[in-house]
Amino acid sequence: MAAHVAVVGCGALGSFHVAALARAGAGRITVIDRDYVDPSNLHRQWLFEESDAAQALPKAAAAARRVAAINSTVEVRPMVADLTASNAEELLAPAQLILDGTDNFETRYLINDFAIRRGIPWIYGAAVGSYGITMPVIPGRTPCLRCVYPNPPESPQPTCETAGVLNVIVSAIASIQVADALKILTGHGAEVEATITTMDVWEGRIRQIPAPAPDPDCPTCARREFPYLEESHREPVALCGRNAVQIHACGRAVDLADLEARLAPLGEVRANEFALRFMAAPYELTIFPDGRTIVKGTSDLGVARSLYARYVG
Ligand SMILES: [Zn+2]
Repeated sequence: MAAHVAVVGCGALGSFHVAALARAGAGRITVIDRDYVDPSNLHRQWLFEESDAAQALPKAAAAARRVAAINSTVEVRPMVADLTASNAEELLAPAQLILDGTDNFETRYLINDFAIRRGIPWIYGAAVGSYGITMPVIPGRTPCLRCVYPNPPESPQPTCETAGVLNVIVSAIASIQVADALKILTGHGAEVEATITTMDVWEGRIRQIPAPAPDPDCPTCARREFPYLEESHREPVALCGRNAVQIHACGRAVDLADLEARLAPLGEVRANEFALRFMAAPYELTIFPDGRTIVKGTSDLGVARSLYARYVG
């Protein structure tokens, strides 16, 4: 009950983390997610329902609402934000442990830098298709992410969009992550094995290999260089799992009511306090109050930038 956990990314893995931690009675959960609930998420995102998607609720806000119904003693801190170098301290600092529910390597390296610098544990996890992988990172005892993967993958990786994702690989991987988290939170962290677990629930394969020893030359945990905490600018990125691009607005606040009035003559607009959705067929723009925008209907960064410039300015 005294625990404070940060769940980064409240999609397939993260929504399971949040549900399991809430039912276990974790006292406080910071839920960080930049995205909103979409009908195409519902087969694999255990915390959400059709009504969340119909209202286009941000996942962090929908998670807070659902946890209040599951276990009202749990305090959820919903953060509708993209985890970046500039807000990592504010979003992650209160937590004593971080669960990885992200869909991209850049954010994982940021989490790794933050956790190693602060000396707090985090649990890496990923799933796509019917395959998944997880590894606990306990500073000072187990290798960190960069000991095992010194650099992000250079070639295109399968994504939830190109390969799909089976709902039960998500719950299987997320369960192992939460099991490690519960050991740590209840003072049994020494029982967390330094292993890499991979599984494919379609082929029926589960494999555990001992994690390698920490790399004495690792830039992160040995040399204590934290480049991912220093980057202050991010380019637009194509989002895993759908035909969409996210545009960062460098902290430029948007008045959603004002924008709603401006866009109303141009097409269908729906807005609530969390986000504004504008249909610009065949595209759809979702704009958040911090200016961050998700352009759905394209994976072309240039098209997304142009639509943003055209409708948001
Ligand atoms: Zn390392």
